[in-house]
Amino acid sequence: MNIYGGIEAGGTKFVCMVAGGPEDVREEIRFPTTTPDETIGRSIDFFRQHLPLKAVGVACFGPVDLNPLSPTYGSITATPKPGWSNTDITGRLHAALDLPVAFDTDVNGAALAEYRWGAARDCDPVLYLTIGTGIGGGCLINGKPMHGLVHPEMGHIRLPRDPKVDPYPGFCPFHGDCFEGLAAGPAMRLRWGQPAETLPVNHPGWELEAHYIALALSDLVCTLSPKRIVLGGGVFDHPGLIERVRVSVQELLNGYVQSPTILEHIDEYIVRPGLAGRAGVLGAIALAMEM
Ligand code: ZN
Repeated sequence: MNIYGGIEAGGTKFVCMVAGGPEDVREEIRFPTTTPDETIGRSIDFFRQHLPLKAVGVACFGPVDLNPLSPTYGSITATPKPGWSNTDITGRLHAALDLPVAFDTDVNGAALAEYRWGAARDCDPVLYLTIGTGIGGGCLINGKPMHGLVHPEMGHIRLPRDPKVDPYPGFCPFHGDCFEGLAAGPAMRLRWGQPAETLPVNHPGWELEAHYIALALSDLVCTLSPKRIVLGGGVFDHPGLIERVRVSVQELLNGYVQSPTILEHIDEYIVRPGLAGRAGVLGAIALAMEM
């Protein structure tokens, strides 16, 4: 029996799992992300209690170095998260556990898990996009998570903003009103002076949020031509948001992308994760299986 370790390494919490797959989860723990020493140390302690393992996968918050030829491969690079810049997470795990360590972005891991076991089974390419305190997108193409020069940064694509409709300039320290700057959780809070989850159902903030998400998705549909789009993140628990996004994507594409999937079956095209809150950590398990 092949059993794997997985870490969903997030900026606010780590989730560690020992599993043979989604139907064979042996153990799972979660703890807050504090310092690298303490947080990676807790992960190592957990896996040591469950050896032997075949491999460990890490689905990590970014930005990260995914180039296997780079001296800093497997590290978190220049993150705004205090203390975490240049943290060699794979090196530390490998040194402590003497196991193969797979490494990718959290969203690439989630795309892989949704493709293997979730809402995007047999859909290749698949796009996974999550909206929370930041926005990230992962893509699986030809059965593999998409990398590149570094890795896709879909949260930072630029969107048209009409200052007369939305005077809020965005919070991204690099771009101001990029996708993340306009539509992540902090943008909702700063624009309206209250957290997104307290905005009433009929508040105009939700129409604007759907508009920005749909602009980004229509760009990504035209760029990547995904066969399915999986939307993660608590914001989509808001009643009606995903439905508004679907309608707005159809309006923005305006019949140009000639696929019945978009024209007639968009509710099966833009979907919530099949693995719910476990897409991230199961993504890490899936990455370990790919070793
Ligand atoms: Zn940005």
